[in-house]
Amino acid sequence: MRQTCKVCKREDYWNYSVPDDLWHAIVPANLQSGVVCLGCFDRFAAERTIEYAGSVRNVRFAGDMAAFEFDIAKLSNGPYRF
Ligand SMILES: [Zn+2]
Repeated sequence: MRQTCKVCKREDYWNYSVPDDLWHAIVPANLQSGVVCLGCFDRFAAERTIEYAGSVRNVRFAGDMAAFEFDIAKLSNGPYRF
């Protein structure tokens, strides 16, 4: 069964990981033990102005028909800076 983001309540197709100290700095305390999708995580980071682009690991998409594990080829902090 697919997990649901505790913030936006959408099914979460994306898995990722970040270091614990970053997770605790970015995600509100009442949500830290649950699933927070990458989109909601990014919004929390933007609200707190905490850069995290270089700290994301294990980015995976787990769909119904396919699954992928991604290598991060490029990254940047801030919006639309490729
Ligand atoms: Zn979400």
